[in-house]
Amino acid sequence: MSSPSTSPTPESHGHFETAAIHVGQNWKDETGAVIPPVYLTSTFEYGNSGGFDYTRSGNPNFRNLQQTLAALEGCKHACVFASGVSAITAVVSTLKAGDMVVLEENVYGCTYRLFARVFEKFGVKTAYFDLSNPANYHHITDLKPALVWIESPTNPLLKVLDIAAISAVAKEVNAPVVVDNTFASSYVQQPIALGATLSLLSTTKYSNGHSDALGGAVCTNDNEWQEKMIFAQKALGLQPSPFDAWLTSRGLKTEAVRMERHASNALAFAGRLERVKGVKWVRYPFLLSHPQHELAIEQMRNGSGIVTADLGLSLEQTMAFMEASRYFTKAESLGGIESLICHPASMTHASIPREVREAVGITDGVVRFSVGIEHIEDLWTDVEQALQRAG
Ligand SMILES: *Cc1c(COP(=O)(O)O)cnc(C)c1O
Repeated sequence: MSSPSTSPTPESHGHFETAAIHVGQNWKDETGAVIPPVYLTSTFEYGNSGGFDYTRSGNPNFRNLQQTLAALEGCKHACVFASGVSAITAVVSTLKAGDMVVLEENVYGCTYRLFARVFEKFGVKTAYFDLSNPANYHHITDLKPALVWIESPTNPLLKVLDIAAISAVAKEVNAPVVVDNTFASSYVQQPIALGATLSLLSTTKYSNGHSDALGGAVCTNDNEWQEKMIFAQKALGLQPSPFDAWLTSRGLKTEAVRMERHASNALAFAGRLERVKGVKWVRYPFLLSHPQHELAIEQMRNGSGIVTADLGLSLEQTMAFMEASRYFTKAESLGGIESLICHPASMTHASIPREVREAVGITDGVVRFSVGIEHIEDLWTDVEQALQRAG
């Protein structure tokens, strides 16, 4: 492989906060620039010492970002893509007709759609189970899948799956485990250390953190998987733009401080929301009331920044609540510094059939908050007034 994807060993990186700022600085030697240039070039002079040939198969901005992401995920390799869905496409493109994939039933909507509407046509088979319930683990050993696909916490219900336990079961039948780590973020959760083969990120969310670029990444310790990902990057044309990679590298430098604030805000927010009269339920991994609270504390550094709740309102009232909110912008996506609010049933999960969606708990009254890093008192005052106006 001519692709420049080598990463230094994780041990030499220092703590997360330090690695986020200091790993991947290979541009420095020539000019001493403290911040990397954006390598807006489609091609490279033949025979250059960096091993670059054409930006579809590698660019210094990808290399910087890949090295930093690998360090932050605590593994050897990362490969970057144009979006989270590109990263998912890269992983699924390694399968062949007849291969079976076992998935958590509550995976991200676009993951479900990609399997159902695209890869099914090519003969890739899927089976969905509630993998937050250990009683369903036997399906993995029974089906001996080519991949096990999980997400934790899940979107939008924030179920927490036992990554170490599922990885151990999958290992019995040599099934690689992919963990979509987007909702937790690299700072909060390290799937590779817990036994997963691949940790997948939509870097659009917490990694970049500023809602100004799309991106995705697949991180691994496995050299063969890294080669497959680098191959998919160039063979399927899934590479990001150098500028988006640069923006994501910039965003990563503050991931640790952002995630601390996201989590402290979200915990306070969830705790208060839980005590509001009429609210049916509030899910947040670090709330005592969360069904997998113990596991969440074991597996995650903090609860991350997403809170999902059933406000106990009708569809009309829920819509009115969302409109009345001043600081929570009604929008898809999550993980940026600004607070967002989303109605999964009509937005992110609209492509999932109603029966399927409601069977997993995504009813019309459910709202998902991406709690930003604003002042918690301003966020809370805003939600109180919006609830009053909606109710
Ligand atoms: C957003 C998201 C994706 C898809 O990422 P894009 O960057 O939007 O393509 C995949 N998985 C999860 C959990 C996400 O939240």
